[in-house]
Amino acid sequence: MSGERASAAAVPHRAEIVVDLAAIRHNVRRLRALTRTPDGGGPLMMTVVKADGYGHGMVPVARAAREAGADWLGVATLDEAVALRDGHDRGRVLCWMAVPGEEYAPAIERDIDVSAYSLAQLAEIEQAAVEQGTTARVQLKVDTGLSRGGCLPVDWPALVDAARSAEERGAVRITGLWSHLACADDPAHPANDEQERVFLDAIEAARGAGLRPEVRHLANSAAAVLRPSSHFDMVRVGIASYGLDPAPGATGDLGLVPAMTVRATLAMVKRVEAGASVSYGHRWTAPAPTTLGLVPAGYAEGLPRAASNRGNVWAAGSRRPIRGTLCMDQFVIDLGDDTAAAGDTVEIFGTGHDGAPTAQEWAEVVDTINYEIVTRVGGRLARVHVDSETAATAREDDQ
Ligand SMILES: *Cc1c(COP(=O)(O)O)cnc(C)c1O
Repeated sequence: MSGERASAAAVPHRAEIVVDLAAIRHNVRRLRALTRTPDGGGPLMMTVVKADGYGHGMVPVARAAREAGADWLGVATLDEAVALRDGHDRGRVLCWMAVPGEEYAPAIERDIDVSAYSLAQLAEIEQAAVEQGTTARVQLKVDTGLSRGGCLPVDWPALVDAARSAEERGAVRITGLWSHLACADDPAHPANDEQERVFLDAIEAARGAGLRPEVRHLANSAAAVLRPSSHFDMVRVGIASYGLDPAPGATGDLGLVPAMTVRATLAMVKRVEAGASVSYGHRWTAPAPTTLGLVPAGYAEGLPRAASNRGNVWAAGSRRPIRGTLCMDQFVIDLGDDTAAAGDTVEIFGTGHDGAPTAQEWAEVVDTINYEIVTRVGGRLARVHVDSETAATAREDDQ
């Protein structure tokens, strides 16, 4: 990276997301090690980079994951898959969310593997491939009990037969069979065994119909780290690649490093008297004189308003409680009798290695999951990608 970029990024942002690509690489390698079998083999690794890389920036995360050996990348939408190619990714990519009438051609001509949940969807994909005079790579999804997307077992025999016929016509090649777990973060839940059993039956039916897919896959992050029986040929790992625990309470220390830090610059610091009430609705009143700090980020940046009077951040060497209502553009923290100044850095959440809270802690405060915390932050936050192994820095607009 050029010195120019580094100095541009050194200008303090009002508030920013900092993503460490070295942490992504570390996590992908670590997950490979965690899923390795005793003989040194193990499933293929798909890194899931949908939803702008869970808020971390899809293309830079994809590049880091490939550097760390990701065999596949997974996204939800066709547009996301095309954007990966526009970002120069050349490896295998699977996408799995489309609606009737969507244009498959851009994905098919870019060698994306697309998913079919139904006969109608398979027919649409085949038609797009025929129109292009090419062969579409298709993975069939079976609903093994999540009751979300995918083909119900009762309809599966017809789907695999139709898929085999489409293969014989030449416009389709079935590259994979897959499904998705409902309760992977609760490894003892009986639904896991049941879904594995239904998946095995579906694989057998596909085999009986003459399909010879390259990959069969079922596991998300939680199943990747907790249920080797669910690994099949590949694991689809999203949240754990970003360093967050996919099953808090069920996992031990996985040795992952959170890749995202959200920080801001204190806009103002003021001393108030006892009895001063803070922010909209005066939902907090100072019981004694105290020093308040103004953090210039709010729910427009995706910070949950439910953290009003509940969450905390790291500033001036300590945890600092949020006081009063978290607003659209800003919130107020309590610095007590400590010294702090406008211009000081506030860490809203980060790796957890430096005393600041983690995305997991924010999730617990507002009764949600870490996924939602990192995926929804954005708004007016600048996003900067750094690499703690090479000391490189790149602002988003340089990507
Ligand atoms: C998002 C998603 C994943 C990744 O889930 P994590 O829990 O983040 O690992 C895997 N498979 C499918 C189908 C998904 O939609």
